[in-house]
Amino acid sequence: MSRFWSPFVHELVPYVPGEQPKLANLVKLNTNENPYGPSPKVIEAIRAELDDRLRLYPAPNADALKQRIAEYYNVSTEQVFVGNGSDEVLAHVFHGLFQHGRPLLFPDITYSFYPVYCGLYGIQPQPVALGDDFSINVDDYARANGGIIFPNPNAPTGVPLGLEEIERLLQQNRDSVVVVDEAYVDFGGQTSISLVDRYPNLLVTQTLSKSRSLAGLRVGLAVGHKDLIEALERIKNSFNSYPLDRLAIVGAVAAFEDQQWFDDTRRRVIDSREQLTAQLEEMGFGVLPSAANFVFARHSSRDAVELAQGLREHGIIVRHFRLPRIEQYLRITIGTPEQNEALLQALRTVI
Ligand code: PMP
Repeated sequence: MSRFWSPFVHELVPYVPGEQPKLANLVKLNTNENPYGPSPKVIEAIRAELDDRLRLYPAPNADALKQRIAEYYNVSTEQVFVGNGSDEVLAHVFHGLFQHGRPLLFPDITYSFYPVYCGLYGIQPQPVALGDDFSINVDDYARANGGIIFPNPNAPTGVPLGLEEIERLLQQNRDSVVVVDEAYVDFGGQTSISLVDRYPNLLVTQTLSKSRSLAGLRVGLAVGHKDLIEALERIKNSFNSYPLDRLAIVGAVAAFEDQQWFDDTRRRVIDSREQLTAQLEEMGFGVLPSAANFVFARHSSRDAVELAQGLREHGIIVRHFRLPRIEQYLRITIGTPEQNEALLQALRTVI
């Protein structure tokens, strides 16, 4: 690498996203996308925006979207932040909301972007062990910290944490920012948004990439106390001027308008998850209880790398993490009933 730029860059260990294969005929169950398309109303709204207005900058604060989200969650617009996917929202959070010089607590098996952002923003990571059943024990977080972050449901395990537990964690941690990353909450978890008025240090992040099937549009959001949101706005405004482009704003607003599409598609995903879990168990897999749009499964006798490789040869891609304790697990995104059947068929020949 060049000696002309900061040596700091050489030290970074960047996040590696799941593979986005070029071949269209693969069954892609590796990055937790929604197998159903976005609401047709989203496509319509984006089409209607595709005209001469593209020469104009978008609204600097995406106000129309913030207003829609505020109505949807029954909070005020000052309690809403939006960004280019929740990864960007999280980047702003790591940039400015966690205290430096004190450990940031997060589960030892979790979204692998958290340690990456720690490296980028000079935050001290402190992974906290999960229980034997991969659950989060909130009492393990009652210790000195400069912030706490965890997904609910957790990723890549899919294991959810109840609202009473989260409230207990908040009661034990009133002096640092607690972030609940709800990327997958709409598939069976309980949102913590109802707690934001009682806990000014709570920030809840969500994404339109999963339950609203808009991973390609890049829209994420955060809800919290207005002071936390104002801090995020200061960070964002020091970094870029327009969080979302015109198409993303109108598309995201339309996504929140079509409740029926949202309910129908997530119900289908949840039903398929329950069915797939039972079928995998019949084939000798242990499957963690998932409240997300994926399952985390381990076969009783077959090696996970070989299974992933075998599935790939049948045109099916699932995710495997080469990490201690979970190296024998596969993370499988819930597909359409046809895709799930193709997965099972392939597994029958591979196992
Ligand atoms: N949080 C978690 C736990 C995730 O798994 C993901 C998706 N990789 C994200 C946040 C980011 O999603 P997006 O940037 O698409 O909103």
